[in-house]
Amino acid sequence: MKLLINPTWRCQLQCPYCLLPHIKINRDAPEHPWWEWANAIVKHAERGSVVDIAGGDPLLWDGLELFCAALFEHGIRWAITTNALYTPAVDRLLKLHPGGCQLINVSDHPGNLAADANIARIRAAYPLVMNRVMHPDAGKRNVQISSLIPYQSYREETEIDYVVRYCDSGIHHWVIDVNGDAFICNVAMATGRTPLGNIFTGEPIPKPSERFICDWGCSSCYTSVPGCWDVHQEVIR
Ligand code: SF4
Ligand code: SF4
Repeated sequence: MKLLINPTWRCQLQCPYCLLPHIKINRDAPEHPWWEWANAIVKHAERGSVVDIAGGDPLLWDGLELFCAALFEHGIRWAITTNALYTPAVDRLLKLHPGGCQLINVSDHPGNLAADANIARIRAAYPLVMNRVMHPDAGKRNVQISSLIPYQSYREETEIDYVVRYCDSGIHHWVIDVNGDAFICNVAMATGRTPLGNIFTGEPIPKPSERFICDWGCSSCYTSVPGCWDVHQEVIR
């Protein structure tokens, strides 16, 4: 499984291109502590899975480093998507130095120039890539950028392309919100579709058994880099 999890929606920044203010998420959902997330994830994801911890900024979520260590103990690798601003959490992560890190993704945001020292420290300890959203107000660091992320204006509801596809999302890929609701993909969460289930209930979560027809369209985060989330699609029309 490849899981994108959002244990917090909190963030210090207000990037002008951030989708969080515009998508249909429950911003008031109570957060769950790291050990509840760890217990739930190891029940639903087999060894060899990858968990990308995003948000919000996951460095603001208490116990991030302990959560990563717990995943590694269960043979699950992890990645973090962060603005890298919160130094105390960087200190704790580097001190514990849990194994199993696949990647630290840092975005070149206009508001995180003060993160450069943290970025250098993380880069010395873990694989780190810098990304930038394709938006005129994104950061302007003079560094090599690994990937340019297409800007999606959820405010204008242009995030989906209305193309009809076969898709197998949900079988090997889930997106999980702060509340623990597991969706087949980020678009399903962002547009307020019914989740597959909730990871904190202790109940099994039914997955699609085979690919299905998705007729609501998709966003560029899945279509621009096919396969990057273990999601396979075939355009029908
Ligand atoms: S750092 Fe990320 S979560 Fe925070 S405001 Fe910017 S885009 Fe949104
Ligand atoms: S085509 Fe895109 S929006 Fe539809 S289920 Fe697949 S990943 Fe989600």
